[in-house]
This record gives sequence, C-alpha cells and structure tokens, in this order.
Amino acid sequence: MHDVVVIGAGPAGAAAAATAARAGLRTALIDKARFPRDKLCGGGFTGRSLGYYQQIYGAPRPDAPFLTRNEMAFYAFGEHLGTYQDCPPLHLAMRRSLDAEMFARAVAMGAEDYTGRGMSSLTPAGAVTLTDGTHLRGRIVIGADGVNSPSARVLFGSAFDRSKIGFALEVESEGDPDKLPVRIDFGAAEWGYGWAFPKYHGVTVGVGGVMQRNTDLKSALTNYLKFTGTQAHGPVKGQFLPFGQARKVPGLGTVLLAGDAAGLVDPITGEGIAYAMKSGQLAAQAAIRALSAGTPQSALAAYRADLRSITRAISQARNLRQLMFRPVFRSTFIRGFSRSSTLRQEYLRLLAGETEYADITRAVGRRLPALLWRTLAHTR
Ligand SMILES: Cc1cc2nc3c(=O)[nH]c(=O)nc-3n(C[C@H](O)[C@H](O)[C@H](O)COP(=O)(O)OP(=O)(O)OC[C@H]3O[C@@H](n4cnc5c(N)ncnc54)[C@H](O)[C@@H]3O)c2cc1C
Repeated sequence: MHDVVVIGAGPAGAAAAATAARAGLRTALIDKARFPRDKLCGGGFTGRSLGYYQQIYGAPRPDAPFLTRNEMAFYAFGEHLGTYQDCPPLHLAMRRSLDAEMFARAVAMGAEDYTGRGMSSLTPAGAVTLTDGTHLRGRIVIGADGVNSPSARVLFGSAFDRSKIGFALEVESEGDPDKLPVRIDFGAAEWGYGWAFPKYHGVTVGVGGVMQRNTDLKSALTNYLKFTGTQAHGPVKGQFLPFGQARKVPGLGTVLLAGDAAGLVDPITGEGIAYAMKSGQLAAQAAIRALSAGTPQSALAAYRADLRSITRAISQARNLRQLMFRPVFRSTFIRGFSRSSTLRQEYLRLLAGETEYADITRAVGRRLPALLWRTLAHTR
C-alpha cells in the first residue's frame, strides 16, 4: 500500500511525485516509458513554467540544455507584426532531457521508480495493475498520463471530447538556431498557430489548431514550412493538444487527474508544461492534506477548488480566442498587436507568468466598445 501512486512521469506526474515524496508520503511513480524518452512538443519553457519549477523543485532552473531568447518575431495570418528584442526570456529545451531531469529530481526526493511498465488497469478506489503484473494500491492515485490518458478513459470512458480537442503537427528542421528568433504565427492553422523554435541542434517547426476546423493540417504544415523558408529534416509527427476543454471534475473517487489528462492547455498560447507542473503540485498538496486528516476521499473536492484559478483562466482564454480568430475581428487584432504595445506586452507578460487572463479580460472588457466600433468602421 502506497500513500500516493502517480501514473505518468511527465511534467505533471514528476511534480506530483516530488511534492508528495518530499512531504514524507510513500509515493510510487509509474511510466510506461523509461527516461529519457521523447515527447512531441515545441519545448517552449516560459517564465511561468520556470516560476513553477522553482517552487516545486527548489532549484533555480532545470539542469538540461536550455537556449534562452529575448527576441521574438510575431506574424498573424501571413502578415509580419514585428520582431521585438526586449521580450521576457523564453527558454527552449528538448523534452527528452527536460522531462528526464524532472523525473530524476522526483526520484531523488524519494519517489519509488516504477518506470518501464505501463498502467494496465485502475479502479476509482485506487487499485492499479501494471503491464508486468505488479499490483499496487494507492490511498490516493494521481493520473498524469497525458492527453490520451488511460486513467481518464478508465474513469470516464474517453480521454477527451473530439469536438473540442486540438491537434498539432511538428517536425525537426535544419537551420542555424543562432540566426533565428523565436517565431509565433497566429492563424498558421485554423483557430491555432504555427511556431518555429530554435533549439541547441536545429529548429522545431509546427502548426496546431482546433482539430474540427483543420481537416487538412498536413497542407497547413507544408505551407508553413514554405512560408518560414525551413526544410523538414525528419518525420512529421502529430499529437492531440487538449486546449480549451479542462475537465469540470478532475477525477473520480480517490483518483485525481493532472496536466493534459485533465485538459489543462492554454487555448491561446498552446502552453501546457506550466499548468501540468502546477496541477501536479496542487493534486499532491490536496492528497497530503486529505491523508493527514484521514479522509482520502476529500482530496478530489479540495483539488477541484484549488484548480479553479487554472480552469477559470482556461475558460477566459477560450472566450478571448474568439477576438483573435473570428474573421470579423481579424484586422482589429492585427492592428492592435502590431501598433499597440499594450496588447503585445500583455501577451508577453502572460507567457512570463506576470499577468493572468482575469486581468486581460477586464482590460479587454473596458476597451470592448471602442474595439467593436473600430471593427464596425472597418467592415462597412
Ligand atoms: C506539438 C506540440 C507542441 C507543444 N509545445 C509546447 C510548448 O512549446 N510549450 C508548452 O508549455 N507546452 C507545449 N505543448 C503541450 C505540452 O507538451 C503538454 O501540455 C505537456 O507535456 C503535458 O504534460 P503531462 O505531464 O500532463 O503529460 P505528458 O508530458 O504527455 O506525460 C504523460 C506521461 O504519461 C505516460 N503514460 C501514458 N500512458 C501511460 C500508461 N498507460 N501507464 C503509465 N504511463 C503512461 C507517458 O509515457 C508520458 O511520459 C505542446 C504539445 C504538442 C502536442
């Protein structure tokens, strides 16, 4: 019997296991892969991610190869909005080394290593069977097994809602990372974006958007590679991206879901590492409190309440996404981003974790009459 069994050792699972083990709980950390393992991702590690990393691991930064950039180029619907030198730092890493580093920290803090075998069955009461036949029982289980979450499938019948899910394609490309800024293209996919992120050994290029609106994402990627002047070097890979559909109840019984398994990706920036780490930490903290009170079944309600700041931010971002991607607002958004330093700065401050969607929503609300007026003037 473990106090906490964590399924999945990505950013959410490693954060949960590190937090629980550091508090002295007997913690098992399961992953079907052995680390280091690859994970399809742009590897953009924002100031928000760095802040959460420092809170969780008590270290200044991950001990993994990092490229740090202050220069960012923005495009929207094929138009160059500007290249800015004074952005808050964005760190770029390969997930293979980043996740291995966080996993190692969780184990060093006392989590027991059950990697290299997957979860094959789970009950809402916390009985877990692994693919090698090992049986574990967790007084609390944290399902942090990614967007295709087997834990969520066991609990709810499906890992996500296909009508709302995002999908992304990515490819590694050759190019001199020193000569390239971080690049983000709003609208490179329908209700989504494209990115070209320099790394130590080349550039990661991708496009992603709401799946139902992107029936031919492969062509969107081909066009984007042409537009950015990059050559694919390696296979094109794809993965679901759970942006904008956070689970209303993140778990069942004594099983809590964290990270992508709970649908916690920002629908505007596509960022998921930060919320994965934070939700893993919050799930473990709820488990620690519930176990010390002797009421493991109270963990889910407490976690759900603590997660509200993230789920509210995601739903506010989903509303704001309308103003970016609805064709009627497009020209207003483009002009706003390229000419108003406020809109741009707010976006950058958001990535840095210096502001929240609640503040941006309030600011947009104040400016909405003027925004609508300008939009109407332009559509006449
Ligand atoms: C193309 C793309 C680009 C992205 N770019 C960025 C970016 O630049 N910056 C950013 O912040 N976010 C980005 N994201 C989002 C980010 O990758 C995710 O939000 C983040 O990885 C979520 O972390 P997680 O720990 O919840 O899940 P994951 O990182 O997916 O980890 C889940 C773990 O569960 C394990 N697992 C799965 N099934 C089982 C099982 N049966 N038993 C045991 N273990 C299991 C997996 O092996 C895996 O290690 C991107 C996503 C995509 C698809």
